[in-house]
Amino acid sequence: MSDPKQKYPEAYEICEKFMLNKQHMDEIVNRLTKEINMGLTRDTHPRATVKCFVTYVQELPTGNERGKYLALDLGGTNFRVLLVNLINDRDIDITGKTYAISKELQEGSGIKLFDFIARCLAEFCKEHKMEQSNTPLGFTFSFPCKQVGIDNGTLVAWTKGFKAEGVVNQNVVELLRDAIKRRGDFKVNVVAILNDTTGTLMSCAFNHRNCKIGMIVGTGSNACYVEKTANTQTFDGYLSSTKPNMIINCEWGAFGDNGVLDFIRTSYDHEVDKQSINPKKQIFEKCISGMYMGELVRLVLLELMEKEAIFKGQTSQSILIKGKFDTSFITEIESDQPGSHRNAALVMDRLGIRTNNEKDLGCLRFICETISTRSARLAACGLVCLINKMNVKDLTVGIDGSVYRYHPNYHRLLTENMNMLLKGSVKFELVLSEDGSGRGAALIAAVCAK
Ligand code: BGC
Ligand code: MG
Repeated sequence: MSDPKQKYPEAYEICEKFMLNKQHMDEIVNRLTKEINMGLTRDTHPRATVKCFVTYVQELPTGNERGKYLALDLGGTNFRVLLVNLINDRDIDITGKTYAISKELQEGSGIKLFDFIARCLAEFCKEHKMEQSNTPLGFTFSFPCKQVGIDNGTLVAWTKGFKAEGVVNQNVVELLRDAIKRRGDFKVNVVAILNDTTGTLMSCAFNHRNCKIGMIVGTGSNACYVEKTANTQTFDGYLSSTKPNMIINCEWGAFGDNGVLDFIRTSYDHEVDKQSINPKKQIFEKCISGMYMGELVRLVLLELMEKEAIFKGQTSQSILIKGKFDTSFITEIESDQPGSHRNAALVMDRLGIRTNNEKDLGCLRFICETISTRSARLAACGLVCLINKMNVKDLTVGIDGSVYRYHPNYHRLLTENMNMLLKGSVKFELVLSEDGSGRGAALIAAVCAK
């Protein structure tokens, strides 16, 4: 970008507030480290914001897992039922069906949500003639859950777009089993509940033995990592367990809920938070993830439009509506070839603003880059914090989620910023983890069913 400060002074003034320097980032790593230690420590866990839940997953896949497993994936905009066949150490066959989870289901009664899940599962089992097979099932449930066993997870709070009633404080495995019983027309064996980050780590570890972190940057954001069992005080067996490791689901989305990130938050972040269904919650997530990035861009655009600093007094119905600037637009705009504004113009056209003004479209791209760069820098801080915590010099990080997967520069931004913070002292590889929610769930089910 050729000196945006000169080219788009008004936009620059706003975007500057989103820019993080090395000092900010070092401070964020330090603060997150403190919060993670609070989450892990028994005495401080109850008031910790970054909960660091134990997952009861203590082993990574060996590559010898085999067999057919079912997986459910609930956590983003879609719900999926999957049949995963672990054929050998290379081949995993997945067939599945995707269902949209309507706003009504996300925000209505929990019973209806679980009845819907059970109905989808019933249809799937019928289609595959496995109603009576009692197949082991792994439930990828991508929300903060306090686990007291591999198949027992209590929902602590909904995040992202969900707020279905009567689920918080319940064991979601029981809710699922109850919904299946209410139907009574098929049998499955629910053996594990897991977070999508855990699935991502397991799935990646199947091919990369050195994988020690799973991260999601999609609708939401979170990470899990391999901790020494002896450090996981909220796990009853932490001193007696013969297994040296435990995967910890950090739930880093909640980092900052106690104000420790206010030093980097902008008025736009506060606005996004205020308009969300969970104000004052998931503060780190709201700076990073796909559910909020587009909205941040929209708010910046609106302010510039009001000042007539962009789009020359043009406006539209659409752009005034919350949520209309989808995060996928950021990906599209930043995918324009240098010098071209083709996607940028298409996106604005879709939002009801027709323009070919190069400067305005360049400015739009600059705003998008600002928001995605901040997201990647914050995620890099999170990863560096976990790498330092584990004190490893060589590892693979499995990553999934729509932002990481589709954004043209996210991988590069993560890599550059991690190298900057780690000063080249650690060898890491960032790997797109193929279908963690499905493969990962099956691998955990396989380990449990053993
Ligand atoms: C949830 C996490 C999840 C992440 C990514 C967050 O909102 O709290 O459990 O891993 O989204 O899906
Ligand atoms: Mg997902």
